[in-house]
Amino acid sequence: MQVELITIGDELLLGFTIDTNAAHISRTLAAAGVEIVRRTTVGDEPEKIAGAVREALERTGAVITTGGLGPTSDDLTKPAIAKIFGREMKLDEAIATALEHRWRARFPNSSFPATNRTQAEIPEGARILTNRHGSAPGIWLEDDKGRWVAMIPGVPREMRGMLAEEVLPAIKSRSKGAESVVLSGTLRTTGIAESAIAELLGQNFLGEPGTELGSLPLAYLPGVAGVDLRVTAKGLPRARAEKLVQEAILKLRSRVSAYAYGEDDADLAAVVLERLRSLGLKLAVAESCTGGMLGERITSIPGSSDVFLGGIIAYHNDVKVKALGVRAEDIERHGAVSEPVALQMASGVRERTGADVGVSVTGIAGPGGGTPDKPVGLVWISVHGTDAKARRFHVFGDRAEIRQRAAQAALEMVRRALSNG
Ligand code: AMP
Ligand code: MG
Repeated sequence: MQVELITIGDELLLGFTIDTNAAHISRTLAAAGVEIVRRTTVGDEPEKIAGAVREALERTGAVITTGGLGPTSDDLTKPAIAKIFGREMKLDEAIATALEHRWRARFPNSSFPATNRTQAEIPEGARILTNRHGSAPGIWLEDDKGRWVAMIPGVPREMRGMLAEEVLPAIKSRSKGAESVVLSGTLRTTGIAESAIAELLGQNFLGEPGTELGSLPLAYLPGVAGVDLRVTAKGLPRARAEKLVQEAILKLRSRVSAYAYGEDDADLAAVVLERLRSLGLKLAVAESCTGGMLGERITSIPGSSDVFLGGIIAYHNDVKVKALGVRAEDIERHGAVSEPVALQMASGVRERTGADVGVSVTGIAGPGGGTPDKPVGLVWISVHGTDAKARRFHVFGDRAEIRQRAAQAALEMVRRALSNG
């Protein structure tokens, strides 16, 4: 089943409010096998709202709107949409009374504002969608051809409740035949560029067009953690979709295995901790440019205390020398962002904490401080376990991204060191 979504509000168009409703509704419906085929955002203008709904009804015949159901003057959704269906607005006395009771319970010393009564105005022949989390009721309008619009509130908590309790059951009861799903699987990679993966995979990697596997869309999703590869099966029975997605992920894994650290929501820090735990090893960190981010990534994983001893934020050179035992003359000669300093930071923290594995990060996060020799984004990372390794990275982005990518690269270096023994 296919549905269009229209989110309403000037604040969304202006960018003051991020359209989290759209993301939530898309995910929730996909999990229930309902595909959002188009999303539109319009401002609080009756003609724009009505225009968007009319077009969506013509195309898809199934529309959800959020926003514009409140009592204030920017909330004009209901009458605008009622007009498309040729329905008059009528005051629903039961809803008006309920709203008034709700008001008196919350504000016993002030009188019920007349504007709030407009929330009780309902298009003729509409079905009311109960709002258990707020005041504005939702509305389901349907014409004799079975085309429908569900109008739900913009307030995220109210929207989530009404979607789950009222709208989803109504949509499900309409879809005939075997239940189909929209199902995604994600393979998470890091340390390889999107274009390099594309080259590894080539054309039609999953299968020739027309085959079941080959028709799964494959998305490349780059971010600071790396490139996620996501495949999505649509409109299939659950068991079939699960099997196809699993097959696709296995196939992708076989080609990019060296860079793949997990699936779906996997966090590289958790993967590394799990591997250390199973090997019975303890970890410590020495951080310069990441300023504690690596420790934060690790300690945000529940149960990290079994494996993680701690670390030193050695930002100033004096701390690198005094707290980690880095040789001052090496900093002088090679600079703080250099192979010898990274190596000594890792071995220093390993020794001083008694960890089995020490990892260090030193780099130039910018925006200032870069030179032709040592540009912004240059990062040296060292891992010291049974032996010591150091590697030079050149990561890109603004200061925040460089630091995040550096922390991710350090975790990945530990993961690889552990995989190679
Ligand atoms: P409304 O139902 O249009 O009166 O919206 C009430 C409040 O909900 C707004 O002030 C926004 O803060 C929030 N809101 C409305 N639409 C969205 C949306 N699409 N995503 C996230 N928040 C929203
Ligand atoms: Mg609004």
